[in-house]
Amino acid sequence: MNLFEKIKELVPLFNEVSADSVVFQSGSYLHTKCPVEDCNGKTTVSIPKNVFYCFDCGRGGDLITFKALKQNVSPLEAARLLINEWSLDIDFEEEAKQLNLNKTPEIEQKVPKIDAVEREKYKEWFRGIVKKFEKQGCIDDRQLDNIVQFTKHLDEA
Ligand SMILES: [Zn+2]
Repeated sequence: MNLFEKIKELVPLFNEVSADSVVFQSGSYLHTKCPVEDCNGKTTVSIPKNVFYCFDCGRGGDLITFKALKQNVSPLEAARLLINEWSLDIDFEEEAKQLNLNKTPEIEQKVPKIDAVEREKYKEWFRGIVKKFEKQGCIDDRQLDNIVQFTKHLDEA
């Protein structure tokens, strides 16, 4: 396991997201503000998958990506912050040395890899979300486009 994987195993994305933000939980999903400062979108976190996705700016990814976007730092710096903030028993300097930096997680890793069964679950969930947002009048055309885009990606994957 590399540095990033070790951190992700110790800190569920759920914990990081709910540490200092207002979150709403519905089933196995969390809804909260996007980690990107100038994005006013809603980010949705899949608790069991440990990934997030923002309907507004289309950014998504894992815990490291979330932290990096939120603090506006590199994935490596995000790792260092997470180790400190969660008092993890990980030697940052040592682990960072062993890291192949060509293989750091993509900061804008758009869509998590999922299998066919999960894909259907996601699509089902998206339909529900879109209906809910439409009803509450808090989804605009751009957000809807992003959702359609994401759902299309699921179809093609
Ligand atoms: Zn966003």
